[in-house]
Amino acid sequence: MTSFSAGGGRRRPATTMASRIAPLGVLPLFHRLDGRRVVLAGGGEGVAWKAELLAAAGAHVDLYAEDPGEAVHAFVAGHAGPGRVVLHRRPWSVDVMPGAALAVGDVATDAEAQAFRCAARLAGVTVNVVDKPAFCDVQFGSIVNRSPLVIGISTDGAAPVFGQAIRARIEALLPEGFRRWAEAARAWRPDVQARDLAFRARRRFWEAFTALALARPDEAPTEADRATLLASLDREDEAAAGAVVFVGAGPGDPELVTLKAVRALQSADVILYDDLVAPGVLDLARREARRIAVGKRGGRASVAQADIVAALLAEAAAGRRVVRLKGGDPSVFGRLSEELDACRAAGVPIEIVPGVTAAFGAAASLGLSLTHRTAAPRLQFVTARSPDGVLPDDLNWAALADAAATTAVYMGARAIPALVARLLAEGLAPDTPALLVAAATTPAQSHRRCLLADLPGLVPAEEAEGPLLVIIGAVTA
Ligand code: SAH
Repeated sequence: MTSFSAGGGRRRPATTMASRIAPLGVLPLFHRLDGRRVVLAGGGEGVAWKAELLAAAGAHVDLYAEDPGEAVHAFVAGHAGPGRVVLHRRPWSVDVMPGAALAVGDVATDAEAQAFRCAARLAGVTVNVVDKPAFCDVQFGSIVNRSPLVIGISTDGAAPVFGQAIRARIEALLPEGFRRWAEAARAWRPDVQARDLAFRARRRFWEAFTALALARPDEAPTEADRATLLASLDREDEAAAGAVVFVGAGPGDPELVTLKAVRALQSADVILYDDLVAPGVLDLARREARRIAVGKRGGRASVAQADIVAALLAEAAAGRRVVRLKGGDPSVFGRLSEELDACRAAGVPIEIVPGVTAAFGAAASLGLSLTHRTAAPRLQFVTARSPDGVLPDDLNWAALADAAATTAVYMGARAIPALVARLLAEGLAPDTPALLVAAATTPAQSHRRCLLADLPGLVPAEEAEGPLLVIIGAVTA
């Protein structure tokens, strides 16, 4: 115990019992109904769904309905599941309650709700009255089912539609394959318990298991995985295997990030990110992940590529899951090949998660199609920056001067005058439509349409207004 001195203004170090959870509207408990009897009363469509839900949880459902609707008949007739459903063609009564694990009533009036609740309570049965929270001991929530992994969502009756929307989001985030990982966990648990491991070792096993599940959600866990995980328990001090995931952060808008990218960010130990990556994208990462800025922008103070590669390899060698987060798509003008080569040479496992490249983001935000059946059958991405910062001179000029092409020019700020001069010399018409888009898909986005010949006067020498993309071709008109 620690005491405080009264007055005096100075505070001593104190051990406090922090209250660690904010007030809860309801307490989520998960009800095991396998083989237990449930009383269900009512004949409407909602009751058919409740019967299905309860039977899916393995309950033996006694369904009381004097005049069951079509949905109830259809469900009872077609039902073949873990639980059983028996339809009693009469109203519920007090004597059906004793021994039930749960009573669920879909009743019309508050008076009947009150009667249903009293009957259940008298028999010591937990009660739910559909859509009448005031008469409920427990409420149904929205469910995300990856059984044995089950997620229940409640808004405590405040806004079921909101709850359902949240459910849809979680559905999208949780790969279907988690079901198999959760099943494997259940199957493997006795074996792990039987090894009589110290708490820390057991915990390490499950951490490694979880890392594997997050890394490969769509692949079923195998016996080989189990063997590897168990073997790693014996190699107490050996460093865990690190890995690098190259992830496309998209052009700016965090909603343009893929679900796979979110998952990678959620399981990262450390994230090395470029200047171009929007802050909103980094916010999607696991809170505990270490974030390292490795900005590299033309004309600004930069981290050398060699230092980035060295940091990647060092983090991976320390056994960490590294996310290398790059603006747009990682394989488009992002020096991905050099980083891949280094990882492969060092034997570091890699994965690539594609992203929405700037040209796609810019076109979409302006409502443009980048190709056209006749006017633009060719779409090409080109960088206007060579390794020494000037316009490369070994480009395919005939292709770039193709009047029937859409050309997206990346990193064009400095070299646009030289590029345009060359395109005009190669025969591309001066009145070819062109488009400048800065900071595409971000709140700061700006754009301007012009003609090819006017581009040099409009493009700033530095990307002062955010990253700048130039698109040339008929589709931009
Ligand atoms: N891998 C990135 C491109 C990296 S090169 C991708 O796929 O988008 C950097 C160049 O990309 C910038 O100079 C600019 O031309 C372009 N760029 C990236 N994000 C952009 C954005 N939000 N708006 C406009 N241009 C962008």
